[in-house]
Amino acid sequence: MDVAFLDLSAAYLELRADIDQACQRVLGSGRYLHGPENEAFEKEFATYCENAYCVTVGSGCDALELSLLALGIGRGDEVIVPSHTFIATWLAVSKVGAIPVPVEPDQVTYTLDPGLVEQAITPRTVAILPVHLYGHPADLDVLRPIAERYGLAIVEDAAQAVGARHRGRRIGAGSTAAAFSFYPGKNLGAMGDGGAVVTTDAALARRIRLLRNYGSTEKYVHEIRGTNARLDELQAAVLRVKLTHLDEWNTRRSAVAAIYRAELQGLLGIVTPEPLPWAEPAWHLYVLRAQDRDLVMRDLEAAGVHTLIHYPTPVHLSPAYADMELRKGAFPIAEALSREVLSLPIGPHLSTAAANHIVAAIARSSGAKRLGDAGFEVRY
Ligand SMILES: *Cc1c(COP(=O)(O)O)cnc(C)c1O
Repeated sequence: MDVAFLDLSAAYLELRADIDQACQRVLGSGRYLHGPENEAFEKEFATYCENAYCVTVGSGCDALELSLLALGIGRGDEVIVPSHTFIATWLAVSKVGAIPVPVEPDQVTYTLDPGLVEQAITPRTVAILPVHLYGHPADLDVLRPIAERYGLAIVEDAAQAVGARHRGRRIGAGSTAAAFSFYPGKNLGAMGDGGAVVTTDAALARRIRLLRNYGSTEKYVHEIRGTNARLDELQAAVLRVKLTHLDEWNTRRSAVAAIYRAELQGLLGIVTPEPLPWAEPAWHLYVLRAQDRDLVMRDLEAAGVHTLIHYPTPVHLSPAYADMELRKGAFPIAEALSREVLSLPIGPHLSTAAANHIVAAIARSSGAKRLGDAGFEVRY
């Protein structure tokens, strides 16, 4: 059996008739940017996220960057970011001229540890940028009061968490700025790049609207110096179709996660993700920790199962951030995670047979042992 990490064509084939029709509608309309599809999708996505405003942009990276810019964050400002995240989180901060200040993750949720945030705040701190990593919500109920006490903004990196719930409310609900990505591999994926910001703040939404289109909402009237970060009509039309299936698809992801948890939880040398009781993750990724990760990965590959590592190099050790001189050992949790995490295939189109094949292959791997076997035990 050969199991791809992610098969994007399956999503298209399931919705082919509707997606084809939506694309035909746009192609024949003669409006490829700034049109009714974006307008409608913005309304539908704001409603889905239980928030007032949505502004579509060109990518998740744009969504983060324009949120920071619209909040007036720039040169010399410090923004608290997780040490364990995809590099785009840090890059958005760097792009606006601000300084990313890393804070280690909590070891259950792998999201920003709220208990470590206060000690990272300085007089130059202006914002906290939590990431709802792998689809598990960061603990906003703890982060929001901290931000309020110190007068900081919260910009959420929700790229991996579309549809997740935090204490019953959707990720994006009540957010000053929640940045989403519609990169094809994300839970709500376009057929190219795309992103959006969801916000409670009408003025902030307006500024992002200006920034994404050369500082203009009216042709040749440029109020500020903006950029080109627009979502095209084809992508918006595709996203409108997929949005109506997102909840069902996320439920199918949860079902795969439930199989993994049931079959892998008892294995020594393996730590399964355990969502907190108040969280309904979007299960963008199913990330194990394995003491002998590389061995488990090799055994899975031999069984035809393609896995990935999110992420093999902690951002502070990436050459892109060498100038920050954050040495090895500076963020031991992020560094340990980079050695131990392993992402199993997950998605709405992964069959039960494939999920069973995967757990059987892990159980056979000498990198994992059944409870009761003589062997190692990982404790964190
Ligand atoms: C995908 C992703 C981004 C960037 O989104 P793009 O649409 O690729 O620009 C940012 N942060 C995280 C955590 C992501 O997973």
